[in-house]
Amino acid sequence: MHWQLPIRQLSLLHKKHSVMETILLSDNDAELLKAAQFIKDGEIVGIPTETVYGLGADASNPDAVAKVFAAKGRPADNPLIVHLADFSDAVHYTQNIPELAYKLAEKFCPGPLTMVLPKNEKIPMITSGGLDTVGIRVPSHPVMHKIIEMSGCPIAAPSANTSGYPSPTSAMHVMRDMKGKIAAVVDGGQSEFGVESTVISIESNDRVRILRPGCITREMLLEVCGEVIIDHAILHELEAGQKAASPGMKYKHYSPKADIIMVEGDIKSFCKYVEDKVDEKVYCLIYDGDEFTIPCKYLTYGKNSSEQAHWLFQKLRELDDIGAEKVYVRAPSADGVGLAVYNRLIRAAGFEVIRA
Ligand code: AMP
Ligand code: MG
Repeated sequence: MHWQLPIRQLSLLHKKHSVMETILLSDNDAELLKAAQFIKDGEIVGIPTETVYGLGADASNPDAVAKVFAAKGRPADNPLIVHLADFSDAVHYTQNIPELAYKLAEKFCPGPLTMVLPKNEKIPMITSGGLDTVGIRVPSHPVMHKIIEMSGCPIAAPSANTSGYPSPTSAMHVMRDMKGKIAAVVDGGQSEFGVESTVISIESNDRVRILRPGCITREMLLEVCGEVIIDHAILHELEAGQKAASPGMKYKHYSPKADIIMVEGDIKSFCKYVEDKVDEKVYCLIYDGDEFTIPCKYLTYGKNSSEQAHWLFQKLRELDDIGAEKVYVRAPSADGVGLAVYNRLIRAAGFEVIRA
């Protein structure tokens, strides 16, 4: 990395946590004001969004951002997305915004789309992981929106999980991972989409590249852009020495403690493949409505891609809670929103896919 973290934030990153009280806030205005005040004061707070829960900090305060990296155990070169109340605020934190970004914003903001744009000096290097670009998103969740407005801060908010573990889709998940490490968690119910935002870079005035798939799909982006490239690293492991278009691509992600094995095929061939592998600690994760014909314990994660996106992380966490050690997952379709689900699972599975 050509960029060096200032000593002050470096020491905050590696500081041993003194355990702090983490309060649970509800989503009425009085409680949201408390959350906003914590953020203004440089503390960090778990916040609901329409994708997954985020760990929010004032993106322009390097010490607050250092606390986010420390609480998650996140590698310092993995940048944070900055959340704004309205896309028109992006001019305060970025520069040379391409025309296409405005067109995309008109169609998809507020919503689960993150655009990587050239940053300006208001975004400290620690927030962008040392890059000269920053991911900008305008969330649609009313609670997140209110907290941004009440705090008056641009809010850096990565997913509120311990780095590497499945993202949180409820306040309880955030408490599990972050209790004692952060000031508060705001309970805004279950996340609607269930997977993180679609991250894109803008390559020309007609072409974008998907760096992380989400609920804004390639097909939806094609309604605004002439060309939408799906980065190779979304479905394939980076080769040794290969540079990642997005730093998050380098890291193991979304993994529960259990071993995840992805199996492609219809439910009949899936059952046939797993049949002789059934054991006390073995579970299956299959579709709702699948005709399951083998004596193995199982959970389901929805019958179509949107439901699977909504439930995936919750089910991966549940499998750990019930003591699963090995989980055979019936692979989702990789089309539309399914690409986001497939991308999370193939990473959780360490890129191993079995064709039954
Ligand atoms: P999370 O904060 O957990 O939702 O992850 C955000 C992901 O967005 C990171 O892991 C990066 O891969 C990606 N990202 C954020 N900012 C940038 C950026 N400036 N350039 C490329 N990718 C980015
Ligand atoms: Mg994350």
